[in-house]
Amino acid sequence: MHKSALRSLCRLLLRQKASTNHARYSSTPVPHASSPAADLQTTNDGDLRRVEFSQDRIGRDGSLIAGTLPGKQEHASQQQRQPRPATLPATAPVLPPIAEAQLQQLVDLIADSRQLVVLTGAGCSTESSVPDYRGPQGAYSTGFKPITHQQFMASPQAQKRYWARSFAGWHEFSDIHPNAAHEGLARLQQRGWVDALITQNVDRLHQKAGATDVIELHGTTHRVICMGCGDTSPRQPFQDLLAELNPGAAEYVKSLVAAGHDVEAARQRSLRVGASEEEMRQAQLFKRRPDGDVEVPVRRPDGDVELQDAGKGFIVPPCPNCGGILKPDVVFFGDGVPPARSKRVLELAEECDTMLVVGSSLMVYSAFRLSKAAKAGNGRLAILSAGPTRADSMVDLKVEALAGEALARIAAHPALLLPRVAA
Ligand SMILES: [Zn+2]
Repeated sequence: MHKSALRSLCRLLLRQKASTNHARYSSTPVPHASSPAADLQTTNDGDLRRVEFSQDRIGRDGSLIAGTLPGKQEHASQQQRQPRPATLPATAPVLPPIAEAQLQQLVDLIADSRQLVVLTGAGCSTESSVPDYRGPQGAYSTGFKPITHQQFMASPQAQKRYWARSFAGWHEFSDIHPNAAHEGLARLQQRGWVDALITQNVDRLHQKAGATDVIELHGTTHRVICMGCGDTSPRQPFQDLLAELNPGAAEYVKSLVAAGHDVEAARQRSLRVGASEEEMRQAQLFKRRPDGDVEVPVRRPDGDVELQDAGKGFIVPPCPNCGGILKPDVVFFGDGVPPARSKRVLELAEECDTMLVVGSSLMVYSAFRLSKAAKAGNGRLAILSAGPTRADSMVDLKVEALAGEALARIAAHPALLLPRVAA
């Protein structure tokens, strides 16, 4: 590979970033698709698509145009007024400690529940250095445009590019540790307080923390699926196969890791008082994405930094069974949640008496409709998340606090320390 090939992707990515930033700062308002019909977005077979509603939209060229959440600007400036604790990753929001009264309300809500469904989103993983999409430090704010299902399926080049970047990011992404939020939820589940744990995240951090039977609404990067025969297989053997087929890329990624290209370390360096311009630029360039992709910076002899084109020469094998296209088993934007999974989570939401949403703005309809279903079934809805959410108008209890801090304290509360006794 690959150096020249890698270089072109890098240029392409930088161009994309420049155009996104341009769109973001443009004074032209982004039109919102706010009609109820646009909100539903059902496919012919009745399945729901994972699309960004009302706030974001897919542009004509297939790129994602990120919108602004109501109140997001005030929220961001509020966060900036507080100093960031040294131990808090840059991906997590800075928030004051949870108020005792709110903590008690959350504990009471869980303690009184008979059927508790927990729904988690990207905000649950920001304290593990995985960026969310819409927070002030989120991927959209830094020019990230997720690939759509249609883009992936339509172009072998897009598939190569996706897999090359995902290949480069996997080593780090698969090594991320769960945080206190995942651990607190796992403990509550082990004691019987959580009847269903549904996550929008693809990072497997709930399972790493010890949670079981996690329903991964949008799939996971830890599994590969064939779009021809539907066969699924674990990611690591596929990663090993990619390394064998692409020794140059494997060597290159190894050298980056050895050179200490650690995303979080780069971020922390850039946040120090007196950080150099170069350190800040490095942090901007080497970014982890919510789905585990990275953008890889390369230093050229002339001192310029560019991203290598990991796409062109990258070899992605077809499915060994049927020759079909292999894709991470993740629901990309523009794709639908598989019908059986969709039906199951909807039933759980309808039947629960309490739903606790952790770290999600519920802007993705496949998650928002679960909160609506819980309310429609006379369930109580509590949201523990930073910033505004799509369900704020119907929420029974809203708490803006760090998920890790809140859930560690909730799980340690005397009222929830013992296993739940079935009613
Ligand atoms: Zn196949």
